[in-house]
Amino acid sequence: MEKLRLGVSSCLLGNEVRYDGGHKFDAWIVKTLGNFVDYIALCPEHECGLPIPREAMNLSGKKDDYRMLTVKTGIDHSARMLAWSEKAIAKLRSKQLCGYILKSKSPSCGMERVKIYPPHGGAPGKTGVGLFARTLQQAFPLLPIEEEGRLHDAAIRENFIERVFVMHRWHKLLSAPVGAAEIIRFHSIHKYLIMAHSPQHYRQMGKLVAEVKKHAIPDFLDTYLQALMTATRLHASPSKQQNVLLHLLGYFKPDLDSFEKQELIQLIAQYKAGLIPLIVPITLINHYVRKYNKEYLADQVYLQPHPVELKLRNHA
Ligand code: SF4
Repeated sequence: MEKLRLGVSSCLLGNEVRYDGGHKFDAWIVKTLGNFVDYIALCPEHECGLPIPREAMNLSGKKDDYRMLTVKTGIDHSARMLAWSEKAIAKLRSKQLCGYILKSKSPSCGMERVKIYPPHGGAPGKTGVGLFARTLQQAFPLLPIEEEGRLHDAAIRENFIERVFVMHRWHKLLSAPVGAAEIIRFHSIHKYLIMAHSPQHYRQMGKLVAEVKKHAIPDFLDTYLQALMTATRLHASPSKQQNVLLHLLGYFKPDLDSFEKQELIQLIAQYKAGLIPLIVPITLINHYVRKYNKEYLADQVYLQPHPVELKLRNHA
């Protein structure tokens, strides 16, 4: 399988770039996800010109107005960091990134809840965003971005990886000439994935794509991607998944006998009740897709949104 490209905070790969000369090796990012990904590793603090080791830094100021200072000597490295971030992001624009994994809690890389220390003492508030992370989010508002800590949550991890692979297919779509037919085909294979995240977006995007020929393609692509990434960001809850699974069951009404239908309905109910993982009904549906040669369903991304080796649908 062709590898996709993710940005990552360098210390998460085990590179010894932290202020104390250490790293924050993350086994899942390196050994599991790494089998499917080419990482672009950046350490903003080192690459903006600071040495290893270096004095630790933190965010200092108010909720909406803070700077990045060295902890003991109070040197302000904000301007240096922001200038480097702008240049780094300009280079990333041509890399066809599918997502970015940031190191949590860092005054440079932290995506949310980074501590901001009041300048004259007192308890820090956890409302900051690292300076590089903030620039990255502003530059790529639709890019899937997560922190390594949040990725330990199975639902967040699955959502992030799904969006990463959506972005990967989007880049592939744009790598060849795109017209209305290619957009309709792209939307068609993503229909049930979108429904699993947001039935409302599913309906709205269906109407949008039905009118694709009335629009200029570049404008349409922007509008469509915005809707797609907004929809897939929403949590695909068990009840939304159940809704999709029952829709898929409908394709097999002429093929399955009543025992087979009841068996699948029971598995879907057990999944919804949290007794078995999503992969169980999905595996049976994939079996029926092959057995009854359902070409439309065979193309549905929902049934195989990411490599099974990632085991993202194996949790109840
Ligand atoms: S958190 Fe970011 S800035 Fe800090 S060591 Fe890791 S990559 Fe470098």
